[in-house]
Amino acid sequence: MQDLYETLGVKKNSSEDEIKKAYRTLARKYHPDQNAGDAKAEERFKEISHAYDVLSDAKKRAEYDAQRAFGGRMPPNAGGQPGGGFGGFGDFADIFAQVFRRGADGHAGGPAGPGPSTMRGRDLEAEVRVSFAQAMAGARVPLSIEQRSTCETCGGSGAKPGTSPRLCTECRGRGVVGRDQGGYSIGAPCPRCGGDGTIIDDPCATCHGTDSTKGRVRHTVTIPAGAKDGTKIRMKGKGQAGARGGVSGDLYVIVRVDASPVFTRKDDDLLVDVPITFPEAVLGAQVEIPTLDGRVKLKVPAGSADGRSLRVPGQGAPRLKGSGKGDLIAKLRVQVPTELTGAQTKALEKYAATREGDDPRAGLFR
Ligand SMILES: [Zn+2]
Ligand SMILES: [Zn+2]
Repeated sequence: MQDLYETLGVKKNSSEDEIKKAYRTLARKYHPDQNAGDAKAEERFKEISHAYDVLSDAKKRAEYDAQRAFGGRMPPNAGGQPGGGFGGFGDFADIFAQVFRRGADGHAGGPAGPGPSTMRGRDLEAEVRVSFAQAMAGARVPLSIEQRSTCETCGGSGAKPGTSPRLCTECRGRGVVGRDQGGYSIGAPCPRCGGDGTIIDDPCATCHGTDSTKGRVRHTVTIPAGAKDGTKIRMKGKGQAGARGGVSGDLYVIVRVDASPVFTRKDDDLLVDVPITFPEAVLGAQVEIPTLDGRVKLKVPAGSADGRSLRVPGQGAPRLKGSGKGDLIAKLRVQVPTELTGAQTKALEKYAATREGDDPRAGLFR
């Protein structure tokens, strides 16, 4: 069994103030908010809270001192049937059994349950719509959402500026009070402070003591160059305000990218359909095609079939992960003329005549 004085690092004859000071220092150091996920710190925090719970209460402290004089032994039946059994000490033993069960069952100041532990604000999610060009170049876009945020007047304390919340005397800041039921102690939210652990005498006029305000909040979202439709951007601490001094949640912004009339994105490559004429396909040509920043010349090799893809390195979308850009892929689309002048028709017939005897479908009938 732990020595409660040792737990707080104070002498047996320490004053109330010394005990309170030691508790404050240790509680700050081992508070779950400072040591998220650290089971040892959490355990230590529970021990500290329990030690303070007993030693800060004159009556409990006197009982503890008396019990300590017995050699620090738990009453033999402490874990079993409630009450009695502590050879002749009657009610006195019952009280001890309760005190120690409370310490052991985790209600005494642990971060779980209805305690006064601070609460992180909720994460929020919002969407922003950007043009294809904005997504490619990167952009800063405004986003305004309705949300709770930490009150600026009181800085989130809920108390009128110049005043501060004081520790609830009923629960000594723990937010829970023990209700004894048949020898077992059950933690219940403190009726005095409503589980906050603190009491505000002069509430802040802006937030009425609730420590946060609701309203439209303007954010500026930084869209990274190369953002894709559905890219999620985390804005740390821009979500809902925390409660009781807890940190704010995060804001997740989902980027919706408008389609481009020219480019289609495939991973980090950009696809562009490039119409070419029949003579260009047959004879080859130098054609201009669009890129994100302007235009480049593309060499169409002679004899290019419809659907042929030509790759232009480094002219694709900026890579979201890593550096550089993907490629631009030009897909050739051979245009078939539907309206010909007389002269054009004659020219084509003349061309066809030179190819008499060629049968492109010969392979179908093998
Ligand atoms: Zn306020
Ligand atoms: Zn209270």
